[in-house]
Parts: sequence; C-alpha cells; structure tokens
Amino acid sequence: MSTVTNETKALKGGEWLIKESNAFETFIPEDFDEEQRMIKDMCLQFLQAEVWPIIDRIDKLEPGLMPSLLEKAGEQGLLSTSFPEAYGGLGKDFITSTLVNEGLGAGHSFSVAVAAHTGIGTLPILYFGTEAQKQKYIPKLASGEWKGAYGLTEPNSGSDALSAKTTAKLSDDGKYYILNGQKCWITNGGFADVYTVFAKIDGDKFTGFIVERGMEGFTQGAEEHKMGIKGSSTVQLYFQDCKVPVENVLGDIGKGHVIAFNILNIGRLKLDAAALGGAKHATNVSIEYANTREQFKQPISNFGAIKHKMAEMAIRLWVCESGLYRSAKWISDKEHELLESGKPFNESLLGAAEEYAIECAMLKVYGSEVLDYVVDEGVQIHGGNGFSDEYMISKAYRDSRINRIYEGTNEINRLLTVDMVLKRAMKGKLDLMTPAMAVQKELMSIPDFGSGEEEAYAKEKKYITNFKKAILMVAGAAVQKLMMQLEKEQEVLLNIANMAIETYHAESALLRAIKLTEQKGEAATTAEWDIVRTYITDAADRINKAGKDALNAFADGDELRMMHIGLKRFTKVEPFNTIAARRRIANKLIADNGYRF
Ligand SMILES: Cc1cc2nc3c(=O)[nH]c(=O)nc-3n(C[C@H](O)[C@H](O)[C@H](O)COP(=O)(O)OP(=O)(O)OC[C@H]3O[C@@H](n4cnc5c(N)ncnc54)[C@H](O)[C@@H]3O)c2cc1C
Repeated sequence: MSTVTNETKALKGGEWLIKESNAFETFIPEDFDEEQRMIKDMCLQFLQAEVWPIIDRIDKLEPGLMPSLLEKAGEQGLLSTSFPEAYGGLGKDFITSTLVNEGLGAGHSFSVAVAAHTGIGTLPILYFGTEAQKQKYIPKLASGEWKGAYGLTEPNSGSDALSAKTTAKLSDDGKYYILNGQKCWITNGGFADVYTVFAKIDGDKFTGFIVERGMEGFTQGAEEHKMGIKGSSTVQLYFQDCKVPVENVLGDIGKGHVIAFNILNIGRLKLDAAALGGAKHATNVSIEYANTREQFKQPISNFGAIKHKMAEMAIRLWVCESGLYRSAKWISDKEHELLESGKPFNESLLGAAEEYAIECAMLKVYGSEVLDYVVDEGVQIHGGNGFSDEYMISKAYRDSRINRIYEGTNEINRLLTVDMVLKRAMKGKLDLMTPAMAVQKELMSIPDFGSGEEEAYAKEKKYITNFKKAILMVAGAAVQKLMMQLEKEQEVLLNIANMAIETYHAESALLRAIKLTEQKGEAATTAEWDIVRTYITDAADRINKAGKDALNAFADGDELRMMHIGLKRFTKVEPFNTIAARRRIANKLIADNGYRF
C-alpha cells in the first residue's frame, strides 16, 4: 500500500486512511488565488483598524460595541462570504469563507462573535429554512443588521445534547408553539435578534425553532463571568410559555438533530480555521517579542530553548494549515459536484460536509490543541510579561481554552472520529477490511526492505504508508478482540483517534511539501522539509506510544508481542537531527521576524 501518488483520485470521507493521495491534486494554502488573498488581507485590515485598537473595551462588554462591529464587518461583506447572492451573500466558495474565518481568527472575542453569527447563528436557517424564512432572515443576517445565535445546550444537556428538556406544545388555536425551558452558554445571546432554538414537541420530537428577540415569554439572563473570551456575550435563555408562531418551525418536526449535527460539521472545520488564525498571530507576536527582549546581553531568540519553542509553534501551524485546506477543498469540490448533479445549494454543502464529517472532527481537535500549545509557549516566551494583562499573549492564552470545549468537546470529537470510521466501514462505504487483512498478513511475513530504487520522497512516503498500517493493525485488532465492547473502551478509542489525527496531518504536510517542491524547487523549500521531517519523526513516536497503550489494554501473550514488533516496524523512522532542524526553522523565523510561510 503506497499512499502518495501522481494519479488523480477524488477521495471520499475517511478514504485517506486506506487510499493513495495525489500530491499534485491536493489543495495547499499556496494555491489561493489573487481574490482570496485580497479577502484575507481585508480581514487583517479589519482587525487592525476596527478590533485591536478597542480590544479592552470589547472585553468589558461595552453595550452596543460588538453589535456595531458586526455591522461594520457586514458592510464589508465579511459576514456572508459564501452565502448565495440571492440572499445578500457574496456567493464565494467554501475555501474562501474558510479563509475569512482564519483571517478574523486573531480577533479574540470578536472572532467568536463572527463565527457564532455566521455559523451556528445563520446556517441553520440558510440550510434548513423554508424559502419564506430565508427571505425574511438571511439578507438581514448577511448584512449584520440582525445578529444570530444558537440555543442547543441546557444546564443538564451539553455533550448529550439530545437529552434536552425544553418543551414545545402546539397552542389550542394551532397558531403557536408554546416553549418552556432554559438554554445556557449562548454565544451572542445578550444582543442577538434571531435565535435557532431546539425544543421537544410533546416532550419527544426534537425540533428546531426560529425565535426572535421580543417574542412573548422569551428573556435572556445576565452575562456569564468567564475565564476567557470576556468580550463575547454569553447568556442563558429563558422560555416561559414563549409563543413561537408555527411558521417559525425550522426544518421537519422531530428532525432537529439533523440540523444540530450537520451544522456542527461545518462549525468544527471553521473552528480549526479560526484557531489557526489566532495561533499565527500569537506566534508572530511571540517571535517579535523574542527578537526584541534581551537577557544576558542578547535577544532571547538566540537561546536554543526559545528557538525550540518558536520552531515547534511554526511546525504545528504549518501542519495544521496543510490539513485544514486539504479537507476544505474536498468539501468545496464535493459541494460543486452535488450542485452540478442538480441538488439545491443547501443540500449540496450539507451533503459535502457530512461526507467529510470524520475530517471535520479531526480538524477541530487538532486546531484547538495547536492554538493551546502556541499560546502556552507564547506566554512562556514572554516570561513575566506573558502573565500581564498589558500583553496580548495573556489574553490569547485565556481566550484559547474554550476551543477544546465547544463545537463538541475534544473527547467527543475524538470518539466520534473512530466511531464514524467504523460506521462507514460497516455500511460498506469504507473498505477497511481488505487493507487490514493485508497488514495482518504482512505481520507474519519477512519485512520488505525495498527494491533499492530511489523514487522521489520514497522514504517519507513509506513512513506515512506505515503509519496507516499501524492504525489498521491496532484498530483491526481492537475490533476483533473487543467487538461490541469496543465502544465502552474509550481510552482505546482515544488512542486510535490520536493515531489517525497525527497520520492525517503528517500526510497533509508531506503532500504540501512535495507539491511545493515541484513548484519552487528544493532550494526554496528547505525550511518546509525541515518542518515535515521533524513532524514525521516526532509523530512516529507519538503514534507508537498511542498504539502501544491501546494494544496493552486488550491483547496479551505472543499475540501482543507480535503486534508490538509490528508497531515498532510501522513507526520506525531513520534518525533525524530534529534539534538542528528546529534551529534552522527558528533562524528563518528570527530573520523574517515572524511566521512567513
Ligand atoms: C463560552 C461558551 C460558549 C458556548 N456557546 C454555545 C452556543 O452558542 N450555543 C450552544 O448551544 N452551546 C454553547 N456552548 C455550550 C458548549 O457547546 C458545551 O459547553 C459543550 O458542548 C460541553 O457541554 P457541557 O458543558 O455540558 O459539558 P459536559 O457534556 O458535562 O462534559 C463535561 C466533560 O465530560 C466529558 N464527556 C461528556 N460526555 C462524554 C462521553 N460520552 N464520553 C466521554 N467524555 C464525555 C466532556 O468531554 C467534558 O470533558 C458554549 C459553551 C461555552 C463555555
């Protein structure tokens, strides 16, 4: 099984695990066109002109400030990049709207408000609303005149969202649904005009509703006092015999879960994009600081300890970016394919996002953890100043933490990753069995030492192929051994998810480096190869550890020993001097005074 090829093949969701990927067909951030670059610059200019200068006022939740910023963003088209023109949007593709999320990602609480407004606040109506609902709400949401929010979570139903207690009952005259209950942690809740709210009709039919501010019986609580994103409005919503007109039912009765889960797929990828944008900014600020702060009569960026941190920040950013846009392009292509086959626009993007739901879950986990790593080391580079509110990095540190919690906690997304892969396999959509059997056979055979032919990038390609074999071996054995018990063995599932997330990202980075090298030549891509080789070397150890932990939990005796040997073989990489590579990467960051890839 070779995993990197020159052939053109559109991969379906999860297929990267068992199929070859074409480097030249892989979308990489260097492929953005002129217009996309312009839109990204616009986002940066918006943050520089409108957001960063008043960030402290935003964090104090100054009344009217966030809504007015959203309106300004709306005037510039930043709230409706990919909405159809018929509803006041710019009609751009999915990659462009992802780029806007990245571009505004360094906006702290503002980026949270934008993401909630344009994502969970608007998409449920855009994708599940009737024509009348879309005509009424979307143009005003697209322009920012109205602000959107989304009420799913309740005090006793968070991860287990479908156990919500809020009820809806048809009024005697059949004109209204009467909502009773409570929602919590609602972003933009303090100022939104339009809310997508979920309630159970007659106590069991989970259904979406469009609720407007000012509807009888609908009130909002006080602002929560939070650890971070202090400028993001977060309140509880109360429904006391709240009268919602029947024409405000969103989607089909009893099908609220379809809305909730589908919107989450897109939200997860967009969260990865926003986290990437925030992490790039935090990295830039930290590199600038390290270049100017002197200790022992020299800039602290001279020290190996600091170089290691800066280089690792850049490595994770580059890898994160590679994984994000690879999947975003798959979704964008699938959306176009569905549109061309005659599907309406709403079903097209939703269908595309559902196809790549596994990737969306992995991206969410990865991006949020890259951001956490970057801001944590960013504070460390800043020393005592990193602990001061005077410095942006301390705000970034506090603001980062929420990303591992909302849009599905990282535990839930890891569990979902493996669950969705196995379900796809059971439905016959993903043939895991054939390659898993081949790996088992290979385990019994003498290792293949190769033909000695020097194919380009052969070594790195082989590593990725082997990482996939490691996943197939561990996951295959777990399924065989644990069968129906597997879903209860969460630690094993989390280990397998970690192996998959590492491998997907390592492969994405490798494909990008190969494509870039073909475009720019080897001399111009030495830093990129340092990134890829360092990442793969470290990923091999992490994959090995995760695999071992999983195997030790359910196998024993000779079988366990044989799989340990297999795992060692599949995660074996030649020695690579990662210290020297990180120093070279850091020297580029120092010379560029920032992350300029
Ligand atoms: C600032 C902020 C903004 C938010 N914005 C919104 C919003 O706009 N709209 C909205 O509807 N919601 C919003 N949320 C809610 C958010 O989506 C939930 O907090 C999140 O889904 C987790 O739910 P919970 O807080 O009830 O935690 P719980 O579900 O109680 O989870 C607690 C811990 O248990 C783990 N856990 C739970 N179930 C399992 C399981 N089956 N297996 C393994 N581990 C498990 C979790 O991973 C977590 O570590 C927001 C939350 C915050 C803090």
